[in-house]
This record gives sequence, C-alpha cells and structure tokens, in this order.
Amino acid sequence: MLFSELVEYFERLEKTTSRIEMTDILVSLFHKTPSETIDKVVYLTLGVVYPEYVGLELGIADKLALRALKQVTNITDKQLSEYMAKLGDLGLVAETVITKKEQMTLFSEPLTVEKVYSLFEKIAKTTGEGSIDLKIQILAGLLAQASPKEAKHILRIVTGKMRLGVADMTILDALAILYGGSKDVREHFERAYNISSDIGLVAKVAATEGLEGIKKFKISIGKPIRPMLAERLASADEILEKLDGKGMAEYKYDGERMQIHKSNDKIIIYSRRQENITHQYPDVVEEVKKQIKAKETILECETVAIDVNTGEMLPFQELMHRKRKKEIEKAIEEYPVNMFFFDVLYIDGEDFTVKPLLERRHALESILQESEMTRLSKAILVGDKETLERFFEEAVAAGCEGVMVKAVGKESIYRAGARGWLWIKYKRDYKSEMIDTVDLVIVGGFYGRGKRSGRYGALLLAVYDKTRDTFQTVCKVGSGFTDEDLEKFHQMLESLKLSHKHARVESIMEADVWFEPKIVIEVIGAEITQSPVHTCARDKIKKDTGLAIRFPRYTGRLRTDKKPEDATTAEEIIEMYNRQLKKITEAEKVSV
Ligand code: AMP
Repeated sequence: MLFSELVEYFERLEKTTSRIEMTDILVSLFHKTPSETIDKVVYLTLGVVYPEYVGLELGIADKLALRALKQVTNITDKQLSEYMAKLGDLGLVAETVITKKEQMTLFSEPLTVEKVYSLFEKIAKTTGEGSIDLKIQILAGLLAQASPKEAKHILRIVTGKMRLGVADMTILDALAILYGGSKDVREHFERAYNISSDIGLVAKVAATEGLEGIKKFKISIGKPIRPMLAERLASADEILEKLDGKGMAEYKYDGERMQIHKSNDKIIIYSRRQENITHQYPDVVEEVKKQIKAKETILECETVAIDVNTGEMLPFQELMHRKRKKEIEKAIEEYPVNMFFFDVLYIDGEDFTVKPLLERRHALESILQESEMTRLSKAILVGDKETLERFFEEAVAAGCEGVMVKAVGKESIYRAGARGWLWIKYKRDYKSEMIDTVDLVIVGGFYGRGKRSGRYGALLLAVYDKTRDTFQTVCKVGSGFTDEDLEKFHQMLESLKLSHKHARVESIMEADVWFEPKIVIEVIGAEITQSPVHTCARDKIKKDTGLAIRFPRYTGRLRTDKKPEDATTAEEIIEMYNRQLKKITEAEKVSV
C-alpha cells in the first residue's frame, strides 16, 4: 500500500472532529488496506508502532528530528528555528521546508506503508551506543524520499505527536461496521481488544478471519488483559441491595495493581495501564516462580510496600522508589513488598474470565502457596449489613482503604476492561462530609499571576464520558499545589500543548492553553453542584446545566497509573450527586 494513500486519509481525519465522520473515513481506509498491512495502518493512525504494552517507542526528541530535517534540506539552523517559532509544529515545518525538488531522485520510488513502518521499527529498536546518530540517519533517509505531506506525518509520528484525535473505540466501531456488518456486533470486537490490549491484532484477525475469527479470539500469555473495574457506593446497605443481599467482601489494599503472566519460568508483570513493569520488581518475579504452582497462568494482585521495621503496610507513594532504575536493589531492601492476590484469569490453557468469582477464587487458592510475601487477599462471604460494616472497620484498621464487595452469582464473570456493578468499592472517605476523591484529566490551563506568573495559576479538569468518548470539564482547580508541583506541571504539560481545543474535549469555558488529555490527577472537593459553565453530565439533570465540583483541591497525587479513559466518569459524578441529594433529604427529615 502506498504511504501517500494513507497520508491522504490522515489529512481527512485531521480535518474532522466528528466521531461519526471519523468512523466513516476509517471504514473506507480499512476497506482499501490489504489484510497483511492492516495492523500497521492501525498503529500508525494512532501514532505508534506497537501496542502500548510492548513499551517500545520511537522516542525521537524534537531537536533530533530537526537535525534529520536539516540533513535533507538546504535550510540553516536559524531558518529552522524561525519556522518552528512561527508554526509551532514540527510536522508543519517539515511540510514547508521540504519541497518536491529536494526529494532525492536516486530513490524516486514512492514510499509504501510497509517500508515506512519497517524503518520506524528499526528506529524504535535501535539502542545502545551511537543509537542516536543511527536513528537520525534512518529518519533522514526516510525524509529524503518523502513528499512534503508525507514528511509532515512522518515527523509527527516519530516525535510522538500524531494526535489525529482517533480513539481506540472509534477504530473498533469501524472494524465492527466493516467486518461485522454493523456497530451492533461491536461487543465481540471490544472483547477481543479487552483480552489482548492489541488493537492492531484485532484488526488483523478481523481482516483475515472475519467476525467468526473475532468471536473465537482467545487470551494469550504475554498479552495483557484490560483490567476489570469497580463502581462505588457509600454504604453497606446500598451495596448489599445492589448485590441482591450477598457478596464476597475483600480488603481493598492501597498499592499497585499487577497483572502477572507466568509461562514456566518466564514472568511478565503489567501495571494497571498495561505497562511492562517487570524490571521494577525482580523480587516479585522470583517469588512468583516459587509460590505459583500452575505452569501457565495470568493472575492479579495488589502489591503493597511494607515497613521493614513494623511489618505494616505503607502508603502507595512508597512504591515510587521502584521507579528509579538505579535504586531498585536498595528499594528491595528498604521497601520490600507483599502481594495480595485477588483473581486468576487463565490457567494452563483454560480461560477463567468466563467463570464466576467463587470458582476463580477456589482455583486461585489451589495454585497459590502462601508465604510471608505472597498472600491471598483477605476475604469473607457477607450476607448482612453488620458483618460487612465490621469487616470494613477491620480493613481500615489494618491500613487498607476500605473494602471491595464482589458479586458471587452465576453472572459474576471477570469483565475485562469494564466498570460495572459486579465489583463495588466502599472506601473510608465516603464516611466524611467531603465527597470522595476523584481522578480528573487535565485538559486546559490558565496563566498564573503574581507569585505564579510564568506558570499555570489553575488547571481545567475533566471527567471521562464513556458513551460519548469525550472529556467533559468539571472544575477549575488552583489550590493544593506546592511550588514544586507548579513547576513540575508546567514542565510536564509543555509537550502536550495544542493550538486549539482537543477534538475529544467538550468545554464551554475558554482556557488560555489547551492540552492533549493525558495526565490524570487526584482531586478532592467539598460537594457537587449544578453548573452552567461545565459540560460534565450536561443536560442529564437539567437542560443547559452540567455538574461541577465545588472547592476542588489537588491532593498531591498524580495518577500516573491511570489513563485518561480511566478517570472518574460523568456517570460516577451523577451517582455522587444523587447520593449527596439523598443525604441532604435524609438530614432534612431528621431535623423536622
Ligand atoms: P480505584 O483505583 O479507587 O478505582 O480502586 C480499584 C483498585 O483497587 C483496583 O484497580 C486495584 O488496584 C485495587 N484493589 C485493592 N484491593 C483489591 C481487591 N481485593 N480486589 C480488586 N481490586 C483491589
């Protein structure tokens, strides 16, 4: 397939913000793409070369990309930086400075998608000494053969700034329409994606084996399964009512969620957002080899740092020591961990995600040998409010955040990638007057004044709306930031700046600066109020009105473990709002 054809589609996608239109364009693109190339086309459309869990990025800094560009044009450094200042986008600079006559006639064969992709792979895989120069050489060679428009997209991809606004879900829609006949069969495509985290592979199976292949799609060791997520409720009564009177309550540990893949002695650990974090936990790897009896299995646990002196669980933040490459050995000594296993998704060829919870729990118990470091999550069956309340208090006293209460009926399968009422979290802070903490996505910024000049004085934050697949604003937050935080956010957000509001952001408020929705932070507020200026749950409670968080404050916790799509949802805010109303009415009743 010619790369120029793909680029034409990129240009069309770039011009629209409508999800329906994007879907149509993708259907037509996939229709045109040969099945052996479709995975590559999908990755490139998302601006990557591999699924995220592979952890291989092109990782070319703007400065290096400029060096490659310089090699293939007659342009001076000064001119290049002037263009950069004027256009603010490397892609546009490349499009401007590469003119047709500068394409080397020697390689006048047109670029194909396969060729571009294989050179991108080469760039991603080049490591070690001298790799930077080599990467630049490969990139320059590619640019020498590219048309101005091709160069624009090549540079955007290699610098990680593709940003066509195409979401994974839109790609699944297009695949369902093309290979399944309509969006109605999307759930099969979604399941395939949820149990593999590899949208390129899903596209490939769809293109080669059709809907039947997608329906037969299987879990495989090494491909992370997207985690099942929990809903939240504020009281034991509500929880038991929702679960028809009974459930399994487990301690809710405050650590790092791990999905551990074991194939004999080969162990891979994935984080909640499917990053490969195996290298951070050599101690966990050794322990799993010893304590887990199945040959091939996929397990989930929450890993918590432990105080070496007291044996007590430490706050989540202490796991940060594992993130620094040079300090891992020291961290293993100073901050050892305990793993609390709570689920098993696959054992020796058998898919356990389709089995009810208690069956999974029994299987987990049968393959896991407990030790000081390897534990089963503490769990009991509950059927009454008093027992649940007591267990909750016990969990909190043990240093947990609260409890997870899970459905135990026939329906209680592991729903990969889904948030639902089969798992309900019940956290300590619901008991206070303050609303629970929420995890919000930074979508915009406001310039600071006075002490904060030169930085952002406030940030515009958004929730995720699953049905619309957009981010809707819910508050503007300015408090809770230390000076270091302000500096850190200013730097982190620099590379996410956009010249316009992102296609997936819904906002009435005009920010000074717009960002690509990527960073999730934890915020706590006093209450939820109706708001004419925020778009969260707009028109859901009242026409032309949304919901907002009043008196929001940054808690100091950056949720690097959450993707923007894992942020608190608009539905959750509605739930919280309704609960708050209920509380107020109850209080009024009491005071009458
Ligand atoms: P939250 O991050 O507040 O949405 O809460 C859900 C998270 O709780 C999961 O992603 C796990 O990391 C964590 N967790 C702790 N203990 C358990 C448990 N027993 N079962 C399931 N998840 C747990």
